[in-house]
Amino acid sequence: MTRHKNIPFFIPHSGCKNNCVFCSQTKITGFSLPKEDIVSEALRLKATVDEALEYMNGAEAQIGFFGGSFTGIERERMLLLLDTAYGYVKKGAVKGIRLSTRPDYISNEILDILESYGVTDIELGLQSTDEEVLKVSGRGHGREVCFESAALIVDHGFGFGGQMMIGLPCSDREKELRTARDIVSMGATSARIYPTVVFKGTPLYDMAVDGRYTPITNETAADVAAACLRIFREANVEILRIGLHASDELKNAPFGANHPAMGELVYSRIAYEDIREQLAGKETKGKMLKICVPSNRVSAVVGQKGCNKQKLIEEYGFKKVKIYKSLTQEDVGLSIEAED
Ligand code: SF4
Repeated sequence: MTRHKNIPFFIPHSGCKNNCVFCSQTKITGFSLPKEDIVSEALRLKATVDEALEYMNGAEAQIGFFGGSFTGIERERMLLLLDTAYGYVKKGAVKGIRLSTRPDYISNEILDILESYGVTDIELGLQSTDEEVLKVSGRGHGREVCFESAALIVDHGFGFGGQMMIGLPCSDREKELRTARDIVSMGATSARIYPTVVFKGTPLYDMAVDGRYTPITNETAADVAAACLRIFREANVEILRIGLHASDELKNAPFGANHPAMGELVYSRIAYEDIREQLAGKETKGKMLKICVPSNRVSAVVGQKGCNKQKLIEEYGFKKVKIYKSLTQEDVGLSIEAED
């Protein structure tokens, strides 16, 4: 599995004139910034990249502009940030530039600019491809523009990433799986899945408090995210992230999928399902199960607090479950033996 390395640079809520019901960018990114002039901001970007390059191999890394709607910020500011980042691309210090923005902030003109500054990947915060969900969530655009912008990005030759949410108002499992399939059909090379978290001070919080919205639980979020992940995995779409980064704000979010390690929950669920598939029809009662996995998948297979091991014992009657690290880092899959 290829692992993306990013040097992230956050632009909280900048450039965005919308007010999505769930949005609290300061809380999502975990910090707020004082207003600064564009030159200071570009210098801060430079300092961020220089510091990151001290401990990572930049030849495999991308500078990533995340957090707001990058292509919606003031043109002069966007160009200065791009120019600063492009300097690192030109001298081979980093592999490229990726950014996230809204579907309705994409045009041929914008894409030509991004291409000329060495941008390689563009992620769209689609959140859903369901018309009603987009409307009730206050996204300010419809389904059609999601497809149109994705097509423009792909036609220009950029890597396209689709970001989706689970548990938005008026959404359900079926709509979320359809969104994942739509992202695949748009030609995505990467995806992020964000179960909805309800932060205080957002319209969604008010909707949850007065009963107009039922927040998603961690359990349901993990279940649907696992199903979406399978759709992406079958289409070779790389999953860049599941769930928001852990932060105090996330921990203190009153409702929604605020588990600090949502990705782990999902990967451990997928690992369990994979094991179950391989155990189908096998004699298990009273036997020992040996599972051999690459070291980077051990924690997913074990599950949080050993829950997968425990479930295997309870569900299949194994006497013992042992998990071994395989000798290679290649994803060789699970090798399972059941014996006395
Ligand atoms: S488009 Fe993004 S930044 Fe803007 S309000 Fe919505 S979620 Fe927040």
